[in-house]
Amino acid sequence: MTLDPWLAKAAVLLGSIVMVVIRAPHGQRSRGVKVAKSRKGPLEIALLTVAWLGFFVPLVWVATSLLAFADYPLYPAPFAAGIVCLAVSLWFFHRSHADLGTNWSVTLELREKHQLVTQGIYRRVRHPMYMALFLYSVGQALAVPNRVAGPSYLVAFGLLFAFRIGPEERMMREEFGADYEAYVARTKRLVPGIW
Ligand code: SAH
Repeated sequence: MTLDPWLAKAAVLLGSIVMVVIRAPHGQRSRGVKVAKSRKGPLEIALLTVAWLGFFVPLVWVATSLLAFADYPLYPAPFAAGIVCLAVSLWFFHRSHADLGTNWSVTLELREKHQLVTQGIYRRVRHPMYMALFLYSVGQALAVPNRVAGPSYLVAFGLLFAFRIGPEERMMREEFGADYEAYVARTKRLVPGIW
């Protein structure tokens, strides 16, 4: 049995809208707090551009037939697994924004009176927002029956993560010193107890 691809298109559209709705109020609040230190260099700008493009491609698949050449049939099992990943990831995405508060930035920045958050969803992993985005992109890869649009965010976010994680942890270590060292010693990066 195959499913109507419009189910996947609806899921992509809804997921993208929920993401934007979750982020918008936090983005607005953060913009009210001055940036004290920025490490937004050319690499960061390139990575952010790639991430945005990767996020946008599935929406192109939803709205146009430009990527129809790469379509394949939609089966219930990967679709259901994808939906579960998307739903769980959006919950983590919401929690990580709520816990980071005005310390959140879309890029490598520290704000005035920046606080190191180690509680809530940050208690056991240091990068729950990246974990959420990984899970989201895996969800899309499973639920979207298109060889280009399905994995596009996974590839784009994978690149952002691979090149940003080192500089971000270095920035936090330089700013918060022993407190960050201790936080690193008792937590994992993405998956509690594993990595
Ligand atoms: N890597 C984190 C946060 C992503 S947002 C996550 O995946 O959940 C990126 C910004 O958040 C960074 O520029 C840094 O300023 C800030 N940040 C990252 N970890 C933080 C923490 N534990 N406490 C406070 N701010 C943090």
